[in-house]
Amino acid sequence: MKEKIWLSSPHMGGNEQLYVQQAFDTNWIAPLGPHVDGFEKDLAMFTGTKHVAALSSGTSAIHLALIMLGVQAGDEVICQSFTFSASANPIVYQGAIPVFVDSEKDSWNMSPEHLRTAITDRIQKGKKPKAIIPVHLYGMPCKMEALMAIANEFEIPVIEDAAEALGSTINGKACGTFGEMGVLSFNGNKIITTSGGGALIADKEMYISKARFLATQARDTAPHYQHSSIGYNYRMSNVCAAIGRGQLEVLPQRVEQRRANYFFYVDALKDIRGIDFLPEQEGYFSNRWLTTITVDPLLAGGKTREDIRLALDAENIESRPLWKPMHLQPVFKAYPFFGDGTSGVLFENGLCLPSGSNLAERDLVRVIDKIRSLF
Ligand SMILES: *Cc1c(COP(=O)(O)O)cnc(C)c1O
Repeated sequence: MKEKIWLSSPHMGGNEQLYVQQAFDTNWIAPLGPHVDGFEKDLAMFTGTKHVAALSSGTSAIHLALIMLGVQAGDEVICQSFTFSASANPIVYQGAIPVFVDSEKDSWNMSPEHLRTAITDRIQKGKKPKAIIPVHLYGMPCKMEALMAIANEFEIPVIEDAAEALGSTINGKACGTFGEMGVLSFNGNKIITTSGGGALIADKEMYISKARFLATQARDTAPHYQHSSIGYNYRMSNVCAAIGRGQLEVLPQRVEQRRANYFFYVDALKDIRGIDFLPEQEGYFSNRWLTTITVDPLLAGGKTREDIRLALDAENIESRPLWKPMHLQPVFKAYPFFGDGTSGVLFENGLCLPSGSNLAERDLVRVIDKIRSLF
């Protein structure tokens, strides 16, 4: 069996273990400590946001954001359909109703046109959505300007899911800093990892201090344990934050390496009819977390996404279909959906190629050779 090539595996920078050792040496083995504080400051600096709460996951960050926006049972929340289920699950944790909106073709992210239709329809039916969750999928910025204009027009707050987009920007401004709150993830497969973790970012201090309060079991100020609201155990561990601090030091390199993978693939495959990539729109900068292709069997001599995926799999190379949209998921199928099927077509024809920042050129060449052999 040939050596495994992974889709996206952790890539340590070198100082992570040193910082973890510091956590051990000072006995800060807890969901608080100097590395948590330091990681929050580093993240604020990197993203250009004012306030950051380091949390146990990106999912918990979305959950807390919804709670702070007052989302309750029976409320409706608009969510991009083309995403990972973690964008939508916390809506249901609150007993609220996800309303899914389709993608547009330029960024594969939330369509401003379908967003407007969804909001108008829900208001007509007597319910104004409580929040909007757009996603910068695969690191590609969504059409934030157009989406924010609509959100502002209807006065609906935006929770920006930038879990896959740390290092991505629109006209130099970091993804995650456009909405009322932004969400980051440091899961093992993301562009940098703390093994598992996430963060909530915001310019309003109120959100972040409240997020820290809720994430540590909502303890009132008192010498004893007193609670006036329901809390959660969502804080990041000081050991994980130590890993995160080492990872942040190399984040600019990781973005460069992932972008280099993308351009390598484009160069090597651009002459194959029926294989297409997702270019950046003007002013958009993607961290290229994953390199994605779409395969049009009509142009590709009948070859499909699955043909490529299975051929790579036989070579011990991991690749993966694009996210299956939420409105097509069994668990979400009863919820409203607004769109024209764009995300469904992407799911049918799209594939994520191995994209780790730790891939060697010979790994990329192995992937490319296999794909080319099919054509
Ligand atoms: C990874 C991810 C999340 C959730 O992050 P976790 O840290 O895994 O909870 C949310 N949204 C998207 C789009 C993601 O890719």
